[in-house]
Amino acid sequence: MKNFKKKMLQIFMSAIFIGGLATSGVTINAQDSGTFQGEGAGAHGPIKVEITVTDGQLEKIEVLEQEENELLAAPAFESLPDKMIADNSTDVDVVSGSTETSEGLIEAVNDALKAAGISLVAKSNSEDAEDDNGEVTEETYDVVIIGAGGAGLSAGIEAADAGKSVVLLEKMPVIGGNTLISGGEMNAPNNWVQENLGISKKDSVELYYEDTMKGGNNVADPEIVQILAENALASAEWLRDEVGVEFYDDQLFYFGGHTVERALIPKGHTGQELIIKLKEKADSLDVVTLVNTKAEHILQDDSGTVNGVQAVDKDGNELIFHANDGVIITSGGFGSNVEMRKEANPEYDEAYLSTVTVGSTGDGLVMAEEVGATLTNMESIQTYPVSNPETGRISLLADTRFDGAILVNQEGERFVEELERRDVISKAILEQTGEYAYQLWNDELDQISNSKELHEGEYNELLESGFLAVGDSLEEVANHFDIDPEALEETVEKVNEYAEKGEDKDFNHRGGLHSLENGKYYLMKCKPSVHHTMGGVVINKSTEILDEEGNPIENLYGAGEVTGVIHGENRLGGNAISDAITFGRIAGQEIAK
Ligand code: ADP
Repeated sequence: MKNFKKKMLQIFMSAIFIGGLATSGVTINAQDSGTFQGEGAGAHGPIKVEITVTDGQLEKIEVLEQEENELLAAPAFESLPDKMIADNSTDVDVVSGSTETSEGLIEAVNDALKAAGISLVAKSNSEDAEDDNGEVTEETYDVVIIGAGGAGLSAGIEAADAGKSVVLLEKMPVIGGNTLISGGEMNAPNNWVQENLGISKKDSVELYYEDTMKGGNNVADPEIVQILAENALASAEWLRDEVGVEFYDDQLFYFGGHTVERALIPKGHTGQELIIKLKEKADSLDVVTLVNTKAEHILQDDSGTVNGVQAVDKDGNELIFHANDGVIITSGGFGSNVEMRKEANPEYDEAYLSTVTVGSTGDGLVMAEEVGATLTNMESIQTYPVSNPETGRISLLADTRFDGAILVNQEGERFVEELERRDVISKAILEQTGEYAYQLWNDELDQISNSKELHEGEYNELLESGFLAVGDSLEEVANHFDIDPEALEETVEKVNEYAEKGEDKDFNHRGGLHSLENGKYYLMKCKPSVHHTMGGVVINKSTEILDEEGNPIENLYGAGEVTGVIHGENRLGGNAISDAITFGRIAGQEIAK
């Protein structure tokens, strides 16, 4: 950082120097021309840019360094530099869904301009006034799908594979939804990695069914959960064999609430691998994907049969998509819609941040209700226990918890089994001093999880914001957060003893505790954040959306987080992807029949 600033100063000084030479005859204001570097804070680390300005006109913006999520940040990197150059201004709108990246990029350009002492004079931008010509564009497809996350893409691929013309409408500038920003792990009983690890026999469809039912307090629809349990492995094999998703062959995730380790992990430990491969497959089958296209209403004919979608593009133009075979709603949950959350369950008000994308506003639920769908289980809202206390973002760095990291409170004491269900851990955290907790792990655990390397951006971001302390001794990390070092040392001594004996006498850790005898240590502050909304539309086993009498609304299907009958009161980790892919596929197959 210091070196970078020094370099910037050198560039700035040389610009002034060259300017000094030039001013001896010709009137060139050298401060209004040149190449300058600047830096801003992105979502996952610094964004460094180099800008070229000629006679006060911004000519080029080059991103030199950044650590953003490849897919999420792409719309910002693709559109904002052109927009700033066209307007000759940094006063441009952020790209929805890439807000932090947009802000970081704008900040970096401003930083470069400031260093150069340049104030841009904005061009009149009457030429890009909104292109709202009031005309309605109409298109016809066999199948119209609302929402391009894991469920929507899977549905689109299956319908297209069955010979249907398909359009996927995505309201955000980027596809992927929460599937993209998730860890991407997916439960499948008796999977090939369990076989590789010699634990396949410990698992079964029945056990997975029982874990899922029990994990949701037995209120899910047993018939639908049975379909999930029976098809999750086929969904994973489909992703691997037909879609080309790469999963690690020798590692599984042990999420809370499961009796055995059964979650497959995609390459890179994030949903990016899934979304990139699903999109490639969808493209190969000519599925049309339209971003910045927000579905607003489901259309029906006189008999109530669903036959299209009314949507709007980013310029406010109305679009009508006629659907010969019907509509599939895969628009995800409502975790980002505080009003809807409060209406569903007043407990989850503004006090909670959320891990989900800004696109999760429950639009599909509103649209489905308009055409007579019934909603169920809406009060069941899940928080993810280990999230960033400031941004609400899920901590993937803290996946070391699944390999043995412990949770402690401000008093330096453990207070819950670290592999308990998310709702149980979240509630336990909220009962601690300050309503937050800390996760502690050491280098050995970090290497087992490969956490720092896989989530380097998050690691740097947490260090910088002070929510992560790294040190050679427990005392050092405890002091960072004002925790009594002796209390923390005492807790760790007990953990080490339990790890050695293979028995956690305090909380009966189901994965077995891991010795934390050796540093270096990582201590991270965390807080629960809204993560998944279990409620939604009621579907039958063909994924048809049902009305209040329990009858299917003709030609209307639903899959993924928008549905409300699969996870009961609490969704187990690794079940969102299994749900989205399994029922997305079924919806695509059924609508094509
Ligand atoms: P799932 O896991 O069920 O697939 P995701 O959250 O991954 O859910 O994906 C849902 C997608 O639906 C998101 O990309 C979201 O932006 C999109 N979406 C939500 N509402 C609308 C809407 N009104 N029109 C188009 N897309 C929408």
